Amino acid sequence: MQEGINAGAPWASSGRQPKIAIVGAGMSGIAAVIKLRKAGYRNLTVYEKADRVGGTWRENTYPGLSCDIPSRWYSFRFALNPEWTHRFSYGPEIQAYLEKVARDFDVESAIRFGTAVKSLDYVVLPSEEAPKWRLVTEGGETSLYDVVISATGILHQPVMPDIPGLTSFEGAIFHSAHWDHSAELNGKRVGVIGTGSTAAQIIGDITSRVGEMVVFQRTPQWMVPLPQTEYSPGLKRLLRFLPFLQWLPYFFYFFAGLRTFGAATVGDKKMQERISQACLTNLAQNVPDRDLRARLTPDYQAACKRLILCSSFYPAISSENAELVTEKIQEIDAKGVCTEDGQHYELDVLVLATGFDPSAFILPTKVTGEKGLDLEEFWHRAPRAHRAVAMPGFPNFWMLEGPTGPVGNLSLITISEHQIDFVIQMLDKMKRDGHAAISAREESYVGYNDAMREALPNTVWMSGGCTSWYMDDSGLPNLYPWAPGRYLKSMRRPKFEEFHLRDEVAATASA
Ligand code: NAP
Repeated sequence: MQEGINAGAPWASSGRQPKIAIVGAGMSGIAAVIKLRKAGYRNLTVYEKADRVGGTWRENTYPGLSCDIPSRWYSFRFALNPEWTHRFSYGPEIQAYLEKVARDFDVESAIRFGTAVKSLDYVVLPSEEAPKWRLVTEGGETSLYDVVISATGILHQPVMPDIPGLTSFEGAIFHSAHWDHSAELNGKRVGVIGTGSTAAQIIGDITSRVGEMVVFQRTPQWMVPLPQTEYSPGLKRLLRFLPFLQWLPYFFYFFAGLRTFGAATVGDKKMQERISQACLTNLAQNVPDRDLRARLTPDYQAACKRLILCSSFYPAISSENAELVTEKIQEIDAKGVCTEDGQHYELDVLVLATGFDPSAFILPTKVTGEKGLDLEEFWHRAPRAHRAVAMPGFPNFWMLEGPTGPVGNLSLITISEHQIDFVIQMLDKMKRDGHAAISAREESYVGYNDAMREALPNTVWMSGGCTSWYMDDSGLPNLYPWAPGRYLKSMRRPKFEEFHLRDEVAATASA
């Protein structure tokens, strides 16, 4: 049933604080609270399904977990950290950093832990002055908000492989994102399905202590070495004493990341070639066995799939207790894995490093916008947004790390911070001009996504001859096809004309 608009003013024109819900307390949610408060927005509630902050760094606890983006760049700009112990931090240190930042900035007081969001719908209620987002938790509690910010991240729904007999395996079997720490690895026969970034880190870490390591590879991956370094106590002391020096490495890695990996994926052929050469050299130097090297050599272009930075995988797969299996898996039985060539690999532990659903974003939370528009149906497994942050028909609903953002080999913290600054500018605009609601204009959204579709063939994700989790059901990579710096610039200066700034709240919300 549709209803007319209620009398009275929405938050911006009435001068009250907007009530803002943030979904997720990972790095984007933490940054959102800190930056919104600093900008004067204090009525914030963060809904977090788990009992701790941290998002992907809380969920993933697999051995070898680390970040292949340099820590000096993979840091909040408002909380640079002189204490990083390594150039590329390990998972527990990043988790501790996120928890510390949340504590230091009192983010936790805004968080409702153990409270998953079941649904969000944009409604006009007779009791309310203006349309609101009605948020219902899994526990059945209902609250109303003026603004919703989705900070759920991208890769948070693990994908189990569709292999016959998966449930019949009698040993320990688990997805990399749900690591079973009670499973004994030392001296055991361990199988790993997958050879993505996650698998490379796991295999590199545990092969030396397992009895046998059997790696089931469907597609070979390109890898460059990870130039890991441990930071000295002297350097940490210096940075504590002169904290502004941390901006040097921050911007060094920032510009290096944009000019190398960022540029190579979106048309810089020379850089792409240099990365290919670095991968080939890495392979040649670290895999002495010619046959193994051949089976590890991809037949598509480097950086077509997300480039892996890892120095431990090649030595591990070349070690005596490791075997690379490239035959297709036929089935899994009680004792292990059978491949199509009739081989059977007996295993004690089977790790599924088979990735995540890249089309989830805020789903499975049911999000209903204007006129009953259902987000899952709107996306239809090919999620799109305007500038990765907004969708037509979903007023006052903002996404951090939303569809088609630049997510390749870059610091997602930097991307999120820019997106939050963008959202704050939108809220400021509402406050300044008394707007009731903001949503992406249909024509802006369509034009932006059409331009993206035209630009995508220039990217290595599309022209490089591979498939990857970047591709969604539209058959196109769900990524920003231009230089990442261009995206960051667009976040700094919103073009308000691309948005529908409404003073009157149309009677389009669901009753
Ligand atoms: P992924 O890159 O999607 O890799 C999944 C792997 O599983 C691929 O090798 C895939 O083979 C294989 N696979 C999937 N289903 C299979 C099946 N049915 N049979 C056999 N093999 C199967 O997942 P991920 O390694 O978890 O990484 C996901 C993303 O997380 C990364 O790309 C990166 O963005 C992020 N990540 C980042 C870091 C970091 O250090 N910053 C670390 C880990 C992860 P195909 O290649 O043939 O599909």
